[in-house]
Amino acid sequence: MNTATSTAEQDRELTACPECDLLQFEHPVPPGGALRCCRCRAVLYRRRQRGFDRALACAIAACVLWLISNAFPIVGLSVNGDLVETTLFGAVRVLYRDGMWPLAGLIFVTTILMPAAHALGMVWLLLPLHVHRRPYRADAAFRLLRIAREWGMTEVLMLGLLVAVVKLAHIASVVTGPALWSLAALMLLLVAAASAFDERAMWRGVDSASLATPESPTLKGRTASSSGICVCHDCGLATRGVLRHEHTCCPRCGARLHLRKPASLSRTWAYLIAAAVLYIPANLLPVMNTSSLFGAQKDTIMSGVAYLWTSGSWPLAIIVFIASIAVPMLKILAIGYLAASVNLRMTQYTAQRARIYRIVEMVGRWSMLDIYVIAVLVALVQFSAMATIEAGPAAIAFGAVVVLTMLAAMSFDPRLIWDTSDAKETPR
Ligand SMILES: [Zn+2]
Ligand SMILES: [Zn+2]
Repeated sequence: MNTATSTAEQDRELTACPECDLLQFEHPVPPGGALRCCRCRAVLYRRRQRGFDRALACAIAACVLWLISNAFPIVGLSVNGDLVETTLFGAVRVLYRDGMWPLAGLIFVTTILMPAAHALGMVWLLLPLHVHRRPYRADAAFRLLRIAREWGMTEVLMLGLLVAVVKLAHIASVVTGPALWSLAALMLLLVAAASAFDERAMWRGVDSASLATPESPTLKGRTASSSGICVCHDCGLATRGVLRHEHTCCPRCGARLHLRKPASLSRTWAYLIAAAVLYIPANLLPVMNTSSLFGAQKDTIMSGVAYLWTSGSWPLAIIVFIASIAVPMLKILAIGYLAASVNLRMTQYTAQRARIYRIVEMVGRWSMLDIYVIAVLVALVQFSAMATIEAGPAAIAFGAVVVLTMLAAMSFDPRLIWDTSDAKETPR
């Protein structure tokens, strides 16, 4: 009886939850279904229906749309017959010219470079698999794809463009360019490609059978680290024999393997404190300097929200307020609470804290909204005689807050939340 179950278990793949580290065997998942962790309910794996072909088609279309989105103007502004248009790259160039190169770099990476890497990375991996060949350097391409998905923010850019268009419509007549529509389509295609992309199925196509899967230990409530098994952050492969503080790489995708992210808490605190300090100038200093015939005006983030509110676009005022003021502050508080709870070896509310972590990871990127709004306004309002807009010092501080809180969330290891309660339950 016992041997029968153990051979049955050996057929199934061993995995550990990336968020709470509990070792478990995978159950067969029906197409379109998801496998969730039996302790913290994190999604371990989603099986996609006919995923490969759909993901490949979407990725190829996304490559074409990326070209259109960058070759044509996004929006234009016409005042007294003067038409000023800008492309995405044009907005980056104006910011760079004005000496705002950190901002220009951030916008270039998140809206131009990373979406391209996302689409190309998928084509790179899926096209060879489509014709039953092994993709060249699948490991590096896969890890690049993970980074591109994390830092590509086309959907936030679209919302930023919407806010900018509403703001500009009060000044002059706005002309939408072809790139605006292709960017919207690019956003949808990248989402569709990502949701059709089945990572496990891809690795099954790439893997040779040579990878040793760890022999199954007794699982009853054990975590991967207590069994000496390490699960790759990137591709989810379980490997045996990784010691704490040892530099080993994943045999499948080549990512560094750690039982826990190294120096997770100190790095999280460092990023968090830097973000909290910069949050102050980001809100007090002007994000935008407008100079026109009627004089100069300095706008902070809050006064921008107030302007949207008083001019009647209150839904956008609420969106900008949530994305630029509430989310960064709540994110700093939430990550601070999570890190402090691990420092204080708190054992209660583990499931709730795991949920907070998941929400924080999901919403953080939307804070980039205001950066994109500023970039579009700066690029378009360049009527030298009548009005010009320049980005203020707070824009750089604000961009740094968004990046630092994202880095803080990434360096926090959610498995630390469960470690204290695991240690209490099983005294070793
Ligand atoms: Zn879990
Ligand atoms: Zn891996």
